[in-house]
Amino acid sequence: MATYRIAVLPGDGIGQEVTREAVRVLEAVAKGAGVAFEFEEALVGGAALDATGRPLAPGALELCRQSHAILFGAVGGPKWDDVAHEQRPERGLLALRKELDLYANLRPVTCFPMLVDASPLKRSVVEGTDLMVIRELTGGLYFGEPRGVERFADGGARAINTMVYTSREIERIARTGFEVARRRKKRLASVDKANVLAVSQLWREVVTRVAKAYPDVALEHVLVDNCAMALVHRPTQFDTIVTENTFGDILSDEAAILAGSMGMLPSASLGGSVGLYEPVHGTAPDIAGKGIANPIAAILSAAMLLRYSLSLEKDADRVERAVLRVLEQGHRTADIASSGKGATVGTREMGDLIVRDVEAQY
Ligand code: NAD
Repeated sequence: MATYRIAVLPGDGIGQEVTREAVRVLEAVAKGAGVAFEFEEALVGGAALDATGRPLAPGALELCRQSHAILFGAVGGPKWDDVAHEQRPERGLLALRKELDLYANLRPVTCFPMLVDASPLKRSVVEGTDLMVIRELTGGLYFGEPRGVERFADGGARAINTMVYTSREIERIARTGFEVARRRKKRLASVDKANVLAVSQLWREVVTRVAKAYPDVALEHVLVDNCAMALVHRPTQFDTIVTENTFGDILSDEAAILAGSMGMLPSASLGGSVGLYEPVHGTAPDIAGKGIANPIAAILSAAMLLRYSLSLEKDADRVERAVLRVLEQGHRTADIASSGKGATVGTREMGDLIVRDVEAQY
């Protein structure tokens, strides 16, 4: 029997509540698919800080390195808002991204037909939205040198950040873009600002070169300002989008609005030898501990784990189908309740419904 080791890092707040449900769904998959998952938990974020004095517990990085995939919850909360910069809960996540070289962030955005009215945008705009934003995560403006603020004697100042990419960095994220597009509708939009930025000119040159190895994928180059408009005007024109760090940060949050609720959005961070899967949302201190958080983003992250780290495509499809069916039946957590028919369910009940549907598919 194939055995996979999964590092589970629930973190803080609702991270713990939703990760529990994602693990239960994976357990149902294991039973049905005849594979074994060995789950090993480690502390990260505020929970790690409280217990070990560090935002990533000793041994957690090693555990992740030795696993086939990482299931992550969320980190942070008001309790740790005033701790020193290096101790902050999100440093635990940033350390993992850096140490594991997770340079590609994948965020699928699907507007589920039965949740169309949960989006603030018009039905005619969002209906049918099914896209993937791939953001380069470890280069560009957020990391480039030189950076800093210079203060002058006359009271003035000058600040600098550097947008820098090497052809190697562009090439590897472009490959991720084409590989992902190949598993979807085989359309890739590469987003840049090549009419102004030298970095974007190199970006376009390298992406065009990489495209030659993927003749089955249709590539288009889109300027970032056009892309920002098109995402809220005609999002269905996109299938897979690949872009650099800063543009991706902004566009992926913009695209998130199309799905209706933060509780519906999964993500994957890929690159090095092990992928990390987490809901896009944070720890939601306003609802933590109440058992009402929507576990679907975490469960769909587990589906991505099955697809991208374990190549268990059919099982990933089953989990996604289960989510769709449970929503079709009218079950809703509070965050998406306005578009539901029946009574609102809690985190655990939503997990139960999805687990039962997954079980029934084997
Ligand atoms: P948040 O995503 O935690 O919450 C924003 C709003 O969405 C809240 O009203 C919350 O109740 C709601 N929400 C989020 N997820 C939900 C779910 N699954 N079900 C139902 N409702 C949900 O963002 P925030 O309030 O800006 O941040 C709270 C804390 O989380 C902060 O400490 C922040 O630093 C941290 N955070 C962590 C991550 C991460 O770990 N990757 C990401 C974002 C924020």
